[in-house]
Amino acid sequence: MAKRKEKLKPIHLKIKKGDIVEVIAGNDRGKRGKVLKVYPRVQKVIVESIKFMKKHTRATQTNPQGGIQTREAPIHISNLMLICPSCGYPARIGHHFLEDGTKVRVCRKCNEIVDK
Ligand SMILES: [Zn+2]
Repeated sequence: MAKRKEKLKPIHLKIKKGDIVEVIAGNDRGKRGKVLKVYPRVQKVIVESIKFMKKHTRATQTNPQGGIQTREAPIHISNLMLICPSCGYPARIGHHFLEDGTKVRVCRKCNEIVDK
């Protein structure tokens, strides 16, 4: 029996802030964008200019016009695929340990290291 680890590890996501991803499901399928924000607990990310959410706002002092604002909505990472910066294709990501023990992400297509 494996012993339960005492420290809570941060939930590991294959997608990180700054990555270029492609949407692989839903209305925005095929679109690409940059990851702006990551929510590890819910495994969702905000992708630049994808999946706009319409938000109706009342006229306020800061926003005297009111009306409809559009914002990026979080997308679950299962609907996204990382674009490999080396080969430019949506890539399956593997992990690899460097000689100094650093864990890096590796594109399974071209075997290039995704992380700089
Ligand atoms: Zn690649």
